[in-house]
Amino acid sequence: MLNRIEEWIDLTNERFSSQRKICTLFARQFAGFYSEEFLADSYFVIVDSIPKPDFPELREAGLGDFLDMEIQGITYKNTYYILPTFAQDLRLHFHELVHVAQWKTLGAPGFLQRYIAEVQSVGYKDAPLEKLAYAFDHHFSQGGQKVDVPSYVENKI
Ligand SMILES: [Zn+2]
Repeated sequence: MLNRIEEWIDLTNERFSSQRKICTLFARQFAGFYSEEFLADSYFVIVDSIPKPDFPELREAGLGDFLDMEIQGITYKNTYYILPTFAQDLRLHFHELVHVAQWKTLGAPGFLQRYIAEVQSVGYKDAPLEKLAYAFDHHFSQGGQKVDVPSYVENKI
């Protein structure tokens, strides 16, 4: 199933590749948190509805609530998708970039496996991969101390 999801992700990222924007747009705002190099390989797409792999197997695996949940953004590998109302929401961009770092550190099968297992066992809100992203976007929104997020993720994951 993970392979099928990854294929779907690659197709989705490809389908939106002409609309994606590069995250170096936030180089100034995110300086000290995300390097230019990291941002230069991270992208976002503004979409009216968040694309999700609505596979029956995922519903059978107990992820129906997650698939039906209304979310503001989602990250697939180095690309995240956000709704137009959040296009200017730096905190959400920051949050999704934590997930880009997690995808990079864990690799696609690793991220998917872990994310799905976490949502299955403790639910979306308490999933450690989410909790870290929320903790970091909060830290950023409070004007917290600079910390290189991708390095932190790499060391602590
Ligand atoms: Zn998240």
